[in-house]
Amino acid sequence: MNNEREFRTVRGYQILDAESKALTASMEDYLEMIYRTCGEEGYARVNRLAERLNVRPSSTTKVIKKLKDLGLVNYQKYGVIKLTEKGKALGSFLLKRHEVIEEFLKILGVEETRLKDTEMIEHDVSLSTLRGLYTLNRFLRETPDVMKQYEAFRIKLKGSDDFL
Ligand code: ZN
Repeated sequence: MNNEREFRTVRGYQILDAESKALTASMEDYLEMIYRTCGEEGYARVNRLAERLNVRPSSTTKVIKKLKDLGLVNYQKYGVIKLTEKGKALGSFLLKRHEVIEEFLKILGVEETRLKDTEMIEHDVSLSTLRGLYTLNRFLRETPDVMKQYEAFRIKLKGSDDFL
């Protein structure tokens, strides 16, 4: 991890920590989705966010107002929602956090419940656990032989009698 990335991660986490009382799990999900949508489509709108999060536009509007009060997003012309610098730093951290946990669960072989489990774990995980998972993901990705051994072991154990 270079210094700039390190700085962004720490900054994102610091903002999360500072706003932790004001920011609910649901608000984190919205912010993550705004960041994702802006990255993929250039901007976000209430209807698009509601569609992607599978919620009603009226609920989305309420949450966006709260995020605006926290200085994380702002409204622009034609209902366009953009992230502030603070919102970008936090959104980038939230997306990264999601990806790290999802990759870890994928390595564990979690399939059907992977997304649901990611959504539960991500809101409560500490920075040190997250960094541990990131390191383990990287290690296994960068040593494919070890990854293969682990996968073979996992599959063998799953088919055995003394499996959990
Ligand atoms: Zn997520």
